[in-house]
Amino acid sequence: MMVEIIILISSILFGTVSLYRARSDIKKAIRQRMLDIANCASGSVNGDVLGSLEEEDVGNATYEDLYNRLAVFRDNVGELEYVYSIKESSPGHFVFTMDLDPVTPASYGDDVEYTEALASAGRGIAAVDEVPYEDQWGRFYSAYSPVFDSGHKVAGIIAVDFSAEWFEGQLSEQTRSTVIGYAVILLLSLLVAALLSLLIVRPFVRAQGELLEEKVRAESANQAKSDFLANMSHEIRTPINAVLGMNEMIIREDNKAKEDLEAEDGVLKESLDNIALYAGDVKSAGNNLLAIVNDILDFSKIEAGRMDIVEAPYQLSSIINDLNNMILFKAQDKDLAFTVDIDQSIPDALSGDEVRIRQILTNILNNAVKYTEQGSVRLTLKGEDRKEGNIVLSFSVKDTGIGIRPEDKEKLFTKFQRLEMEHNSTVEGTGLGLVISKRLLDMMGGSISLESEYGKGSEFRVRIPQKIINDTPMGDYQARFEANLKESRPYRESFRAPSARILIVDDTRINLTVVVNLLKNTRIRVDTATSGSDAVEMAKDTPYDLILMDQRMPNMNGTEALHKILDTVDGANVKTPMICLTADAVIGAKERYIAEGFTDYLSKPIDSTSLEKMLIKYLPDEKIERVRTVSNAAVPEEDSKEEEWKDSLRKAGIEPQTGLLYCQNDEDFYRSILAEFAKGSGEKILQLNGTYEEEDWHDYGIYVHSLKSSSKMIGAWELSDLAAKLETAALNEDQVTIKKEHDLMMKMYQDAVSGILTLMPDVSEEEKEEEILEFMPEGE
Ligand code: ADP
Repeated sequence: MMVEIIILISSILFGTVSLYRARSDIKKAIRQRMLDIANCASGSVNGDVLGSLEEEDVGNATYEDLYNRLAVFRDNVGELEYVYSIKESSPGHFVFTMDLDPVTPASYGDDVEYTEALASAGRGIAAVDEVPYEDQWGRFYSAYSPVFDSGHKVAGIIAVDFSAEWFEGQLSEQTRSTVIGYAVILLLSLLVAALLSLLIVRPFVRAQGELLEEKVRAESANQAKSDFLANMSHEIRTPINAVLGMNEMIIREDNKAKEDLEAEDGVLKESLDNIALYAGDVKSAGNNLLAIVNDILDFSKIEAGRMDIVEAPYQLSSIINDLNNMILFKAQDKDLAFTVDIDQSIPDALSGDEVRIRQILTNILNNAVKYTEQGSVRLTLKGEDRKEGNIVLSFSVKDTGIGIRPEDKEKLFTKFQRLEMEHNSTVEGTGLGLVISKRLLDMMGGSISLESEYGKGSEFRVRIPQKIINDTPMGDYQARFEANLKESRPYRESFRAPSARILIVDDTRINLTVVVNLLKNTRIRVDTATSGSDAVEMAKDTPYDLILMDQRMPNMNGTEALHKILDTVDGANVKTPMICLTADAVIGAKERYIAEGFTDYLSKPIDSTSLEKMLIKYLPDEKIERVRTVSNAAVPEEDSKEEEWKDSLRKAGIEPQTGLLYCQNDEDFYRSILAEFAKGSGEKILQLNGTYEEEDWHDYGIYVHSLKSSSKMIGAWELSDLAAKLETAALNEDQVTIKKEHDLMMKMYQDAVSGILTLMPDVSEEEKEEEILEFMPEGE
């Protein structure tokens, strides 16, 4: 609308100015016409004759001739009112010499009123009066044209008069048609302008406006997104922390109860097993959720340009070790072979962003396992382009999974893209993993590429340039892994500190409970506070060995409380190490908190190992009593024994390494499970054989189902597979398969049990007989 108004106003202004100029041009044109008429009249007159005309000539033939010539002219030019001739009798004084007015003609010698135009004509230049004269006959404009004699002198002047009415009539008529012309042009141009505005300008302006609105909306949405993510970081991590923490407690209590339990109390043991199973589910769901939240946070950080690559020295073997540990377990869970092929000559001590390298490889390896239903996953690492203290780590992760269509390859690195959702709807994921990996690799100067055959498998290749800190090669990585495996144990408190006293501050009570419980076995005296101000109050007089302070609390946050405690004059905790406890996962948070005055930083969800490490680091040495766990105290000569132990299990069809992984590498725990497996076997064998003979396939299915999971737990894979096959057969009442395979399964079962029993010196031969032989089919 504004545009149209502007066009209208400017058109009117332009029209008015033009009209004003046109009007003066019209005036000029009318005057010119008057002059032309006067000039024509004077042109018809002989100058010599006119110049010699005297008063006494009035009425003679010469006079009459002149008169008639002018009369013809007067009668034929319609606009003319009067025609007369004038002479300058003396300088500046003009008189009539002839007047053609038929009614009241002036006489020869009568004065003619002086005007500038008349004087101009007297000087030989034709001119028209600027203003009309007025007499009793009306108002008139006079035009004067000089007549020259043969000597080129002004011999006289011919004047022609036009009525002012005619003049004004002409003026207004021509002005009107000009105005109409302008109006038409104005209307046309307005029309064009309106059309232009309607078809081009308006949509353009509207589009501009919409763009602007869109921009504002997008900016505020982006802000909202950042706020949301920042909040989510805290809001989601805190409850996950509680879930995982409490779950850890369930698992520990469960383990402890199992240890304390009398062997006969099978029912309670079973429910404890179930609790452990549920807790395991909660743990894995919590961890998955945490991984998703972390993905989203990482992605938002990358999008906001706040993700930094932090280079520091690290051990490559440690990364490989952890990846192996993690993926082997997951692969075995899905019956996939997982192999690792590492170039041992790659130096172990490198410098780069270890956290991000782990993140990228974990994602790619996890994907390989996630999107592979059968076959294998293979991790290969080679060192390439080694020069001047630099090396390119070239990883390959090859799977025999579902593969990726060629047309989908590009989509993989686009945010939130997940492929084949119709097949993968149950596979967890955000579709962000590969995008994050690619962006991180870009930031590290690395690259990622993919080769895949749809339906056959994929190979992801990742190249990461790193700096070499020390040339010593990584060496036998596999041996290192095995050794590490032996060392790793499930949670066992590694120290006790009964004389230490610490304060934990968190406004969420459940978080306090989690930490208190995590530290229960360390016997540390733990005080808790649910607000910053309570903490400040408590810290005034009680000296603590360490304070763990949550960051985000209402009223007084962790940093404020920290400053209050540190600033208390003669306060009991001015020198106490303060650990910041926060779910704030933003990069740089640690440095920020340390700059604020915290001694160190623990991110939530708190994992027991990091918490313990932190306590060992900051509690006074004299207060720490190290705990020697049986497994940690393993002496070298026991190694061979241990291997024997494993070998005899392998001979019995049990893969101890897998079984151990199920038991969080806790040997004692594994042994107890094996014992449990053997102990219940007598009755199970009886049940299996009984239902087999009775052809009660429903119950038979229930027993083989239970055998399937218990044998999987101990690492008896083939037995578990066969049991699974028979379970399906029982479900389908497929007697042929059952009859064909039952005996083989029972043989494998008995072998496994016998193998386990040989490892149990504390079980008497009689008991063994009782457990197993009693139930053996005849002839065995
Ligand atoms: P997600 O969290 O969904 O796994 P990613 O970014 O890691 O997200 O992967 C994006 C998509 O790429 C996956 O949803 C899957 O469709 C496909 N994909 C990734 N790795 C593989 C693989 N090894 N085999 C087949 N498809 C894969």
